[in-house]
Amino acid sequence: MKKTMISDTALNSIQLLPQPRHTALGVLRSVEVKGTHVLPQSADVVIIGAGICGVLSAYYLAKQGKKVVVCDKGEIACESSSKAFGWVSQLLTSEHKVKLTRRSKCLWRALQQEIGELGYREQGITYFAESAEEFQSYQDWLTSVQSHVDPDIKILQAHEVSRIATEFSGQCYGAITAPTDGCIEPVLTTAAIAEAAKKRGVIFVTQCAVRGLDLQAKKVHGVFTEKGYIQTSQVISAVNTWTRIFCAHHHIDVPQLYVIMSMGRVEDFKDSPMGCGGKGAFAWRKQIDGGYSLGLITGMSAPITRDAMKLYKKFLPIQKMLGGSKGVKVNFGQNTLNDWKIKRTWNHHQSSPFETHRSFTGAVDLTAAETSKQLMSQFFPHLKTKSITESWSGTVAFTQDNAPIASAVNDIEGFYVLMASGYGFSWGPALAEMLSDLLLKQSEHPDLHTFRLSRFSDGTTLEPQL
Ligand SMILES: Cc1cc2nc3c(=O)[nH]c(=O)nc-3n(C[C@H](O)[C@H](O)[C@H](O)COP(=O)(O)OP(=O)(O)OC[C@H]3O[C@@H](n4cnc5c(N)ncnc54)[C@H](O)[C@@H]3O)c2cc1C
Repeated sequence: MKKTMISDTALNSIQLLPQPRHTALGVLRSVEVKGTHVLPQSADVVIIGAGICGVLSAYYLAKQGKKVVVCDKGEIACESSSKAFGWVSQLLTSEHKVKLTRRSKCLWRALQQEIGELGYREQGITYFAESAEEFQSYQDWLTSVQSHVDPDIKILQAHEVSRIATEFSGQCYGAITAPTDGCIEPVLTTAAIAEAAKKRGVIFVTQCAVRGLDLQAKKVHGVFTEKGYIQTSQVISAVNTWTRIFCAHHHIDVPQLYVIMSMGRVEDFKDSPMGCGGKGAFAWRKQIDGGYSLGLITGMSAPITRDAMKLYKKFLPIQKMLGGSKGVKVNFGQNTLNDWKIKRTWNHHQSSPFETHRSFTGAVDLTAAETSKQLMSQFFPHLKTKSITESWSGTVAFTQDNAPIASAVNDIEGFYVLMASGYGFSWGPALAEMLSDLLLKQSEHPDLHTFRLSRFSDGTTLEPQL
């Protein structure tokens, strides 16, 4: 079988991936991790949300001897973290994000060595330009960040493209390739780290929505959950799509919206490409079982929610950056209707919106994976005969400047917010490491200044980051 992309040596173990599970929470993709239903009375740190950001923070803090409890309203990785494409990529991102991805790559390697199989592979990521303008934008980006990126990132002229992907030669204007950028396996990664965290004493309480913080004199004293009270002096909110709603409950305004992306997977096919890549609208990732995750880079769906109506002006620059109305399509559908049912005020003795929306997803757009397959089949004809074996969708949450938040909250002692904004597997490990250090040592890594929450209220001019 001809494999055309670079660095296939990294694909060193082909494994079977778990099938989606039909549960009371809906269809879940991630391997099941058993949590407890018994609530501990106290903890050094309570983490709200068991996605990749919460689970990694728990792992790092437990390694340093902290008694950590993680509460999730659903299960471990029941929202975005099991639904991602899985790229760990520095390509075409800002200098700050490049730094995060490079640090995360080191951490992924170390975590996989420490914990065992996380599905992390460095098989390379390549974008193929569809127009002269697009190719020029690759060159401009590389020039602007050259001293910060991995030194092996290269621009390939059109005639050099055949070196890594014969199929695209003559059909593209050139490419940009990051030969050692990586990817994870969303159905495995978060679950495997959660199991490792459990071995280090982290307690995961599932089906346990945190309704709010117990604040006394602007200081965290504990959390109110649907199962009762946990006494603690430090809390990390790692609730991703729910950050705006959770923070608003404590009068903290986080300018955040979400879009819905749909994807699918197919089995391996003859003459398939290695690694990860994208050309025009379609993108792929080679999975560790040999199959492919397929998706569309364009056409993300933005539900008209109450927050979207309130914040749309602030988010116009990001929408433009993501390709305007072609990149992000405004949508009035099930998520809009659901949004109107989400309560915005509650008290800690009442059921909160987190209990009524245990595993939040959007409607699956079945055409996304199919369109991606058809576009890709023009170059890889054997893909045509393959059927999409699974389709799913998930939310991608963005802040107003498209940059993550990893920050103490100024007015509430002991409260921290962690939200990756877009690329949680590329930036999450580095952010979780820096935030854990902040909790442990109370000294701030200089890079955390960029990701501070107060930038949204301290008069900083907010430009969307690539
Ligand atoms: C289709 C798709 C493709 C993507 N592709 C990539 C990619 O290629 N590369 C990349 O790096 N990233 C990608 N992402 C983004 C990535 O998946 C996310 O950035 C990442 O998973 C966010 O992790 P998280 O831990 O912050 O949030 P989540 O995984 O969403 O976890 C948040 C958790 O908090 C819980 N929760 C919320 N509120 C409460 C509460 N009050 N009490 C208790 N629990 C609560 C939820 O149940 C949930 O489990 C993609 C996402 C999607 C959907």
